[in-house]
Formats: sequence, C-alpha cells, structure tokens
Amino acid sequence: MKLSKLACEIAESPTFALNEEARLLRERGEAVINLGIGEPRNKTPIAAVLASAAKLTSGEIKYTPPDGLPSMKKAVIRYTEENYDRLVAPENVIITNGAKQSLFNIFYSILNPQDEVIVIAPYWVSYTEMIKMCLGIPIIVTPEDGTFTPRIEDIERAVTSSTRAIIVNSPNNPSGAIYPPELVEKIVNLCEKKGIFMICDDIYHKLTFDRNKAVPAYQFSKHDVENSHVIVVNGVAKLYGMTGFRIGWVVAPRALIRVMTNVLAQTTSCVSPLAQSAAEGALNGLQSVVEALRLQIQNNRDIVLQEMQTFNGARLIPPAGTFYALPDIRAFNNNSVEVSKFLLKKAMVVTVPGKEFGMEGHIRISFAGSVKDVTEGIARIKWALDPTSPNEIYIGDKKMIRDWL
Ligand code: PMP
Repeated sequence: MKLSKLACEIAESPTFALNEEARLLRERGEAVINLGIGEPRNKTPIAAVLASAAKLTSGEIKYTPPDGLPSMKKAVIRYTEENYDRLVAPENVIITNGAKQSLFNIFYSILNPQDEVIVIAPYWVSYTEMIKMCLGIPIIVTPEDGTFTPRIEDIERAVTSSTRAIIVNSPNNPSGAIYPPELVEKIVNLCEKKGIFMICDDIYHKLTFDRNKAVPAYQFSKHDVENSHVIVVNGVAKLYGMTGFRIGWVVAPRALIRVMTNVLAQTTSCVSPLAQSAAEGALNGLQSVVEALRLQIQNNRDIVLQEMQTFNGARLIPPAGTFYALPDIRAFNNNSVEVSKFLLKKAMVVTVPGKEFGMEGHIRISFAGSVKDVTEGIARIKWALDPTSPNEIYIGDKKMIRDWL
C-alpha cells in the first residue's frame, strides 16, 4: 500500500497511545494508575450543560459560520477584554475544534515550505509534528541544563531569515514553568522587531499556583490586536476541564483569521453548535468553577511536592502552573523511554517519557487526577526507582516485593 511519506513520518501521539495502553491494562483487571494524560476529573460546569442542552432541545443543530457562532465569538471577545485588557473585533476571532485545531490552522496559514518556527524545550509534543505537517521546520531552543526557562540570547540566536514564529507556552506543558515577565517582554520585542509572530499557547493561563501569574504577552506590545504580532490561542479544555467538547479559539489580526477561516471551512466546515453553545455557557456562567478547579489542582500539586521530598535521587523544579511535573530522573537512568516502560511494567503507573517533549532524562507526571491516584502513583514510582524507599508495596490487592535494586 502506498501512503503519503509525510503523513507516515508523523509520530503517534504518545499521550493518547499510553492512555489506550492504560485502558487495556485496566480492562484486564490490572490496578493501573494513569499519570499520563492531562485531563481534570471535574464534571462539566452546569452552565455549559444547560446551554448545550437548550441548543439540543431547540432541534436547530445546523452548520454555523465557519469562524464560529456570533454569540460564542462575543463571549470570547468579552473574555479577551477581561483577561487580556484588549479590545477585539469579531473579525479578530475564530472558534476551532479544540486548541489543537487552532494551532494546526495557524501553522498552516503562516508557513511556506521550509519556513522555521522556534519551539522552546520542553515543549508540548504536538507542536513539532504539526509544524512538519505544514512543511515547516521546528527549531528547538533548549534551556540551560537544570532549568525550564530559555535564555533570550539562545532564542535570538535561533532566529534566521526563514523564521516565521516563536511559540510560547507559559504556563508550560510539560514542565509547569511560568516564564518571567521580563522574558515574555523580550520575546514580544524580538518578534515585533523582526516582524515574526509570537504564538502564545495560553491554554493553561489561569491554572497557576500560589502567587505565580502568567503575564499576557499583549501587555508588552505597543500595538492593538490588529497590528500586533502576538497571536493568542486559548480554549475550554483546561480552563473548565471541558476536554471532550473540543473548543478552542484564536485572537489575531483579521488578515490571519480570514485565511484560517477558509482553511477551517474547507476542512471541517465549522465547529459543532452543541459544543460551541456549551463553551459559551461556560464563558458566560459563574467563573467560580475555574477557581474551584484551580484550587483542587493546586492541592494535588502540593501533594506532589510533599511526596517528592522523600524521593531520593529525583530532582523536581516545583511546577508554578498547569497539572504537570517533570522530575529529572537521570540519577536512575538517562533513558526516559526505558524508565516509563519500566514504571508501567513493574509499578503499573503511566508516565510520559521526557524525550517526547525534547527533555530526555525526565518523566512527565500529570497530577490532574484524584488525590488517591496522585499519592499512590508517586509512592509506586518511588518504590520502583528509589532503593531507599520501603521494598514492599501493594498494587491493587497484590503484595509486591522489589527485587531489582
Ligand atoms: N496546547 C497545550 C500546551 C496542551 O497541553 C493541549 C492539550 N493537552 C492543547 C494545546 C490542546 O488543547 P485542546 O484539547 O483544546 O485541543
């Protein structure tokens, strides 16, 4: 069978693959704990359920305009004004099937073959694959060893005449790092000086802990949305834990939104009005649900920090946001794929190898799940890797004895 060479080169999504592996193990009755996927456990906010149910009972479930329902765009405009202090016109907004489609359509709309996009490690796995699908070249900038924050000199050095954009994801998946405002300011200035886009993947911008805040890039731009090089991507998946609704959006200059609208219209027509109504309901509903989710996740983060204190050998930079921690496990094994496989086999815990995020020697632990899963999951990881931890543990109802350290 002859298939597209380009498509065949695109890597499988490791988080979805691991999720499936965990599901199959669970089906076989194994007491597997999934610290792989980033998905909060909350129920859909009631405002979203009611708005979507009202739409459903209307029986009017038809195509919407390809750039989104006007009422949904209005909710995004208000959100942008409130959270980013920027005035936006409906022509500056497009609603997409998840933030994932936002990102893909941005890359598709700004890249010519061989154009470069600067991606800062550790990075979300899909950026590099999406850039390649759009015939672009991801250029990876890696922070100094032992940090998750890049140096502006390294970003500047990576800029060439082929650079079209820098993608910034802060709070960051997979490290939980938030870039300091001075760095964000310098990246904004660099992009504006060079005439390249700064794509801000702000999907976790409200999931921050303690006094940490993610400063919006717009704050450092002298321009309005229409004339800025800043593009903002956001969505309901992490904000309200509404991963299954598949709603994201982009705020950007209208020339880009126009091209993205044509791309979306020709590929998926529009986003389901049921999902758009749900997102609109969430955005217009009580925002205390966001804070409730943030507090629950912050509590889980505190448990991670506490559990990691007694994990000899693993080094963790405390996450300032998101629901991910990326401990350095090089004291046990440099090869994160081997470590993740080992943890699944011996301890029945799903983690994601740091190699997938351009950060070998680390593993990503998602703490979006229940307190029980997070606590027990980390206890099992310690048991499997740390010789100073007790060598007996219960996995489900089976008593396990460590005999490999
Ligand atoms: N960006 C980042 C950094 C993410 O972690 C995710 C989801 N894991 C997305 C974008 C995609 O979000 P959505 O589910 O809205 O497509």
